[in-house]
Parts: sequence; structure tokens; C-alpha cells
Amino acid sequence: MSGKVTLVGAGPGDPGLLTVRGLEVLSQADVVVYDRLISPAVLDLIPTDARRIDVGKNAGCHPVPQHEINQILLREALAGHNVVRLKGGDPFVFGRGGEELEALARGGAAFEEVPGVTSAIAAAAYGGIPATHRDYASSLHIITGHARKDGPLNIDFEALVRVKGTLIFLMGVTALPRIVEGLLGAGMDPATPAAMVENGTLPSQRRCGAGLADLPERAAEMGIHSPALIIVGGVCALASKLCWFEGRLLYGKRILVTRPKDRAGTLSSILRTKGAEVVEFPCIETRPILPNPSLEAALEGISDYEWLGFTSPAGVEAFWRCLRAMGKDARALGGVKLAAVGSATGKALEDHGLAADLIPEVFDAAHLGESLARAASGKVLLLRAEEGSAALTEALAAARVEYRDIPVYRTVYQHPDAPELRKELEAGRFDYVIFTSASTVKGLVSAMGQETDFSHVTGLCIGSQTAAEAEKYGISVKIAEKASIDALVDLAVRADEKV
Ligand code: SAH
Repeated sequence: MSGKVTLVGAGPGDPGLLTVRGLEVLSQADVVVYDRLISPAVLDLIPTDARRIDVGKNAGCHPVPQHEINQILLREALAGHNVVRLKGGDPFVFGRGGEELEALARGGAAFEEVPGVTSAIAAAAYGGIPATHRDYASSLHIITGHARKDGPLNIDFEALVRVKGTLIFLMGVTALPRIVEGLLGAGMDPATPAAMVENGTLPSQRRCGAGLADLPERAAEMGIHSPALIIVGGVCALASKLCWFEGRLLYGKRILVTRPKDRAGTLSSILRTKGAEVVEFPCIETRPILPNPSLEAALEGISDYEWLGFTSPAGVEAFWRCLRAMGKDARALGGVKLAAVGSATGKALEDHGLAADLIPEVFDAAHLGESLARAASGKVLLLRAEEGSAALTEALAAARVEYRDIPVYRTVYQHPDAPELRKELEAGRFDYVIFTSASTVKGLVSAMGQETDFSHVTGLCIGSQTAAEAEKYGISVKIAEKASIDALVDLAVRADEKV
């Protein structure tokens, strides 16, 4: 069986800029060979069963030499594997993609190439700089600013100045002063608009703009590092008008999301769309309680109950898994009415073809209890976490509603090894940590250790119970107006104003 290498352009960093074809071949890869500039968000798209070979650094932290990379690709392809070679941006724009394919051609291995979105154009675009514009530039030049060790820059500055196009330098951060000197020496106007875009298309993107002569000083002030583009030309003046990226509501905010992995997705993606840099640290996991004889018995006698009460989407999912594990489905519920604590729990029921008959106006346990107490004339069956909130059962008891409380899942704390995260929390490197339940607070504290200093942490909490738990550990808290994901996002957007 013969294998193949597909050279895939991974784009500049934002995983949304990986092409549809790129994602398709990546999802079928047996082996993925990648280097330094591939963003973690793109690496997350590698199938879990694919073997990863990182050629961006070896044991000594130096990149694997090109001839060895060529050998690895050839070896894996000839061994019959479906190899994806992931490269930052476009593989053929200063990516040595041509050299790798030549080596494969020489070695007799099959190959294909999937172009990528080059950082040269995309990072400029995310910085509000169109590569060309009829009023400013009729050509575009992409130039390497990389010089062989201590050698001179091999750039024809006179020619570049003469064509009056947009100039985009890659790998030019170290050589910035020499590039600027070269252009000025060849007669370019010192006031020519110029810019740099660092970490383009990533949430950590920064832009710096100045007249050409002042660019090195401005970049040094801001501490601009590689990877960054240097862009020179009239189009740079448009950035102040067109910089949509930096205008997003959560631009520049670093947010830690502590939800369980299977539930973090929506929250994280909304925050990212609004420009935040999101770090996910799932510190709790919910596990259905199985086998579950009490649940089984309750379902046998389901006609004794008038209402079922659910207090979280996790509860609905766990219940559903228990139900299926017992060989039952929705018909086991008969004509019982369904109450959900909030809209997300209602949505989780919808996902299984069940419509909630009751959702309280305020999404919390106490209000669910009060609404149920008003609505119920028969027995209530609560299907929820092992350590469910007492506010619900107290409200039912106060109204003398008969109920049964059956745990369908338990929360398990995760302890991923994360010494770096603890340091970052202690140093205040996150603008906010989002807590969607009191158990996420407990989970984070238990993962970081009780002795962690949380005094630099601002917790955005879904409700007052969660906030009370966070305050126990010295976390400053802000509480969402409603117990919903949208309200938490809203809180993140407005959190600064409220201080
Ligand atoms: N093949 C790549 C370029 C590789 S050369 C492409 O098409 O994008 C590496 C250089 O690309 C870096 O030194 C930097 O100048 C530029 N670069 C890559 N990713 C970047 C990013 N996210 N933001 C700004 N510049 C980037």
C-alpha cells in the first residue's frame, strides 16, 4: 500500500482561516507533521488517533533541519501512511513547501498540495490594512526580511521604492532598522505610512502604526516580536478607519473558561467571536450515575408523578443516558409534565424531542421550586446532581408539595497538571475567570490547590450561589443578570464599565 503526503497551508492562526479542503484532508490523516507557527487552535483539529510529529523543535529546542524533515515525510509516505504536512500560512510563500515536494518527487512518493491563506495578506487584513487599494497601490510585493547569518539583506531597495506598491516584509522583525534604513536610503519618503501586525489573526494580535522613519522606535516601545509583518505603503493609513479586529467588544481580554469540556464549546466560541483570548480549563466532569436502581424504580411508577424537574442541561443529558442504558426511551415518561430551571435546560430537553411545560422567569433553583409549588397538584420527581441545591427542595417542602429527589449524575473534579496556569492566575494574567456553577469554583480550587492566591482573580459568576462559593477563596466576583450563557457574555462585555 502506498502512502501520500499532502502539504496543507494551515493559514495564519485563526482556525477559521484553514480551508475547507485543508480540514478535510487533515481529518483523514494518519500522521501529521507540523512546525512552530501552527496555532494551538489548528492543532486541536488534528484527529486524536493521528500520530503527531512536531518538527518545530527537537530536544535541544532547535527546529529539525530541513533535510531531516524531508526524510521524515518520505519515510512516512513510503511506509504507506496518509501524511499531512501542516505549514503556517501558505506552504509556497516562504514556507519551503517547494523544497519538500521536490524531495518527495525525488524519492518517488505521491503528494498533493492544498494552498493556505497567507499571513502576508490575512494578518494585514485583520489589522485593517487592505494589501492593495486603487487610491494607494497598484502592486503588492512580498519580501523576506531574513538574512543569512550576519550577512547583508539581499533586497533591491531601489527597485522596491521605484514601483510604489505595497511592501510586505515577512521574517523582518530583527532586521526592521536595516529595512527602514534601506528604504530611506533609496529615497522613500520618511513619512510613508507603515505598520506592523504581530500575531495576526490570533486573539493576541497587536498592531503598531507610524511613519516609516519612526516605525522602529514605535515597534520597540510596544515590544513587537516575531511573528509579525512589516507593511509599508499608503494602504497602512487606512488601518485607523478599518481596524475592525481591535474594535471588537472583548478585544485584548484574556478569559479562563472552567466548564466541563463537553459544555465549554458554545461559551468559548461566543467569547472568541467577540475578540477574547479564551483559555479552556475544564476542571469538572459530570458522570451519569449508572446503574441507577432508584431511577429505574421511579420510572416503573412514573404514573405516580405529575411533574419531572430538571435543573441543568447536564442533568438532562445524564438522565437521557441512564434511560437509554436501561433500554428505555421517551415513552417511559408517559404523560408526566416537564419543568426546566432555565432556557438551556429547556433546550437540552428539546434536543431529545421533549418540550418543557414550565420554565421559571428567574433561572435558579429557588424560583424553579416556587413555580413548581404553584403549578403542582401531584407528586414531583427531581432528577438532578447528587449534591443538588437545597433551595429547590426547601421551596417544595414549604408549599407541602410531595417530591422525590433522585441523583442522576455526580460531579467529578479533574486535576490536570497545570502549574503554569496557577502562576498565571496568581499573577493576574486573566482579565476574568468564568464560573457557570459553584462546582466549577470548587473544581478550579481543587485543581490549583487550596493555598493558591486568588486575590488577583475576577470571577464572572452565573448566579449568587456560584459567587458565594468564589468569594470564599478571595475571588472578586461579578454576577450575571440572568443565569444564562448570554448574560455571562454580556457581563464580560460590561464588566469593565461596572468597576
Ligand atoms: N508560509 C507563511 C510564512 C512563513 S515565514 C505564510 O504564508 O504566512 C514566517 C513569517 O511569516 C513570520 O516571520 C512572519 O513575518 C509571518 N507570519 C506568519 N504568521 C504570522 C502571523 N500570524 N502574524 C504576522 N505575521 C506572521
